[in-house]
Amino acid sequence: MYQYTLQIIGEEEPVEIIDCHAHVTASGQWFDTPYEASIENLEEAMARSGIARAVLIPLGHASIEDVRFCLDLAKKQPEKFAVVPQINVAELSLLTEYKDVVAGLKVHPSLQQVDPASPEVQEILDAASGMGKPVVFDTFMQSTTIPIRLLDPKVFDELAKNRRDITFVLAHSCWPHLLDAYIIAKANKNVYLDLSYFGKAADNTYLLHDFCHLLEKLDQKAIFGTDFPEVDVAAYTALWQRYLHHLPEDKQKRIFSDNAREVFRL
Ligand SMILES: [Zn+2]
Repeated sequence: MYQYTLQIIGEEEPVEIIDCHAHVTASGQWFDTPYEASIENLEEAMARSGIARAVLIPLGHASIEDVRFCLDLAKKQPEKFAVVPQINVAELSLLTEYKDVVAGLKVHPSLQQVDPASPEVQEILDAASGMGKPVVFDTFMQSTTIPIRLLDPKVFDELAKNRRDITFVLAHSCWPHLLDAYIIAKANKNVYLDLSYFGKAADNTYLLHDFCHLLEKLDQKAIFGTDFPEVDVAAYTALWQRYLHHLPEDKQKRIFSDNAREVFRL
């Protein structure tokens, strides 16, 4: 059992933290960035930040070896890691022997160059539905190649309404359209928001301040995540602890761990 917990100042009960969005690669390289995506680096960052568990998101379109690497890691340490692979339909058979550590499937429209409403994405949704697993969509509204209208938050609202058989997690909360993400998660029982990455860009803005006040009414649907190695995990965790400090402890607990545990069945 891992006992990493964080004592929030002034609170009696420590709040367990789960990171629902982290990337590691077999080589430790992260595309052409200077970031280090090694498992050693992630484990060290988790220990330093009081994070007990992490959901690993390998990007199969970049390297299928990374998918295998993450699945093997989770198989060895199932109490610490689960995997939400971004993987093509043709490669889904790879997951058969890892069913117990697969916590969902990921779709990354801008990196994979796919329209979220396309038949190929529908096939992934069908697979997730068949497995009874959630689908994590990258909803960061920025792409040099995919038209922005295809990444509009309304697209995910319609997907959620058309596929009520699936639980959706909108990674990066449709940044910068946080208020659209908020209303989509409010409107659709099967939509959750992940808080990864965008806090780095939104820090010190009224937008983030307002969003965090609205989270008081959305604590059942928001899930903490970092987007390691894109952010400094300790600083990013501290940022959200600061922004969510005004919430009652039970609501913080929902956001930092309970929602992730329920959605990803950790
Ligand atoms: Zn990511």
